[in-house]
Amino acid sequence: MLYVQIKNNEMKLIRLFIMTILLAGNGVQAANPFFSSYKTPHQTLPFDKVKIEHFLPAFEKAFSLQDAEIQKITGNKEAPTFENTMLALEHSGSMLHDVTAVFYTLTESESTDQLMELASKVTVMNTEHANKINLNEALFARIRKLYDMRDKLDLKADQKKLLEDTYEDFMLSGAALKGADRKKYSDLSVKLSSLEETFQQNSLKSTNQYEKIITDKSLLKGLPEDILSAASAKAKAKGKTGWLFDLSAPSYVSFLKYAENRALREEIYRAFLTRATFGEFDNSGVMRDIANTRRQMANLLGRPTYAAFALHRRMAEKPEAVYDLLNKLSEAYLPVAKSEVAAVQGFAIGMEGKNIKIEPWDWSYYSEKLKSAQFNINDEILRPYFKLENVQKGVFGLATKLYGITFKKNPKIPTWNKEVVAWEVFDKDGSYLAVLYTDFHPRKSKRAGAWMSDINEQYRLNGKDLRPQVSITMNFTNATETKPSLLTYDEVTTFLHEFGHALHGMLSDVNYRSQSGTRVYRDFVELPSQVMENWASEKEFLDEFALHYETGEKIPFELVQKIKASENFNVAYACMRQLSFGYLDMAWHSLTSDFNGDPFAFEREAWARAIVLPQPKDCMMSTTFNHIFAGGYAAGYYSYKWAEVLDADAYAYFSRNKIFDTETAESFRKNILSKGGTEPPMQLYKRFRGQEPGIEALLKRNGIINN
Ligand SMILES: [Zn+2]
Repeated sequence: MLYVQIKNNEMKLIRLFIMTILLAGNGVQAANPFFSSYKTPHQTLPFDKVKIEHFLPAFEKAFSLQDAEIQKITGNKEAPTFENTMLALEHSGSMLHDVTAVFYTLTESESTDQLMELASKVTVMNTEHANKINLNEALFARIRKLYDMRDKLDLKADQKKLLEDTYEDFMLSGAALKGADRKKYSDLSVKLSSLEETFQQNSLKSTNQYEKIITDKSLLKGLPEDILSAASAKAKAKGKTGWLFDLSAPSYVSFLKYAENRALREEIYRAFLTRATFGEFDNSGVMRDIANTRRQMANLLGRPTYAAFALHRRMAEKPEAVYDLLNKLSEAYLPVAKSEVAAVQGFAIGMEGKNIKIEPWDWSYYSEKLKSAQFNINDEILRPYFKLENVQKGVFGLATKLYGITFKKNPKIPTWNKEVVAWEVFDKDGSYLAVLYTDFHPRKSKRAGAWMSDINEQYRLNGKDLRPQVSITMNFTNATETKPSLLTYDEVTTFLHEFGHALHGMLSDVNYRSQSGTRVYRDFVELPSQVMENWASEKEFLDEFALHYETGEKIPFELVQKIKASENFNVAYACMRQLSFGYLDMAWHSLTSDFNGDPFAFEREAWARAIVLPQPKDCMMSTTFNHIFAGGYAAGYYSYKWAEVLDADAYAYFSRNKIFDTETAESFRKNILSKGGTEPPMQLYKRFRGQEPGIEALLKRNGIINN
């Protein structure tokens, strides 16, 4: 099972717990549903029958079943073949897969304190079990034998890729290292996880350390009422009077965007950009150790830098390709970003009636003012046109138009909450394709954000095509007593995004589970999702479903145009920010020897070519850059931009004739969506597009160059 997250800020998992409701039953021990075959439509997972006490016994049995399966492979007297080793390994652990899928669906979407407590235990058990397999020398010896003669085995492309990827997974866990190196590698990886944990802790604690209490309301001019009342509630909760502002994202972002008081904006900006740079929670040493440890691990595996090591398993393949992208984009966006800054500067002078020089703590404030002056558009104007039921019809309808697939509710399919709807999905010839679960609204037991999950991947077992079960989970605005659920434009694009991931899962047509659907390289996985977002601003698409929920009137075309134009407001500045983070990430992971220098100077130099409004010299972003030091995006931050380039390039091709072009859709399905990770992504992309992706389509979409 694999979760696909969206957008930068959603990497942080915010978990909400409920205190009292248990999954545990009333004392009568029901039969463990994992121990027999499920009597459910399409063999879907028995979410309704699982109780918390079923998990531990089920995990234990699942571990021992897989242990036995692995033993059978390693105990085989015959020489290794693709079938008796690779295929046997690939098909092992099927019960573990099911138990894990149910367990993590519940911890994400139907959580309790008891379940979260169990989760820490289960995570340790899972890691130990996985390590036992990854460090199994006899197993690796058989895989290595196959790998060494892979060109003589007459393997199909997907089989060869499966063998190569599996071999490399084992390499990454240090299986190929001998003696002292093996010990060293394992020590380094233990050290690295503890450093990453410390980094995250320091980053969080230094964020929480700061608070600013303001008791004079006249200092808070400009801040909207809802933000003020949140700040006052925060103060009250701490037994204080006045308004409390801290460095949590909502508080910090709104303060910089709306507060008229410039000195306070500067103070809060500086507090934010000096987090974890001094004192008890200083991360400077921690991040240096992380970068050095990663480099040492990469070196042990024969790679010159951590970036070279990480990019080996990405579409970009090499650090040079990443730098090439960053450089090309910087060159194109920099002049436009400069003129955007000049425009905001000019606007600020006009607004203040005096000559002020825009500083980083002014950017968001004056940009917001200029934006509302230029585009009289906001969420509330659009909401009435985006009734959830209509949006859902529109999104499903788009899939029907493009791929011919259809959707039918099936209430007999068990789900994890009564709000969740299970859909049977059918292919254009009427044959059964997949189960799609939709889970739309916030609950206390559900974490924030939006994600897609491959609950059960598509693959083939003994020639039988096992169709997938996927879910999309959102936290959309609820209906009220007087109004149905009305979405913001952002929520509409989020729906399209996650639905794009779901299509990747549902249309999968592969032989092996570990290559199924969204199980592709990180810098490729956002193509199917982001490409779907492009339809959100197409009039022809909106006209199908974006009808005023009271009057039935179609969404006015000027509004659609305004949406498009406002999306590109200060787009170059935002792009340069993303590029600067990309450069910084690459610099930390391109070290070829131990770093012992000044981190402030390192940061300044690393991103210099992408900086438009320089931060003060005593500020630093690296010490709280969780994405790369604690969040799995090491040498991977560029993938946000990479994916945008891909989706713009793909969509330009898609819509060159008409936006519902079924022929292009068919090719996208055949060459990309159905193929999962069976081949290197660049090959798949070129087969669809006829050439490698270029940045022109993104430049056009952003208005950097003319159409
Ligand atoms: Zn995504």
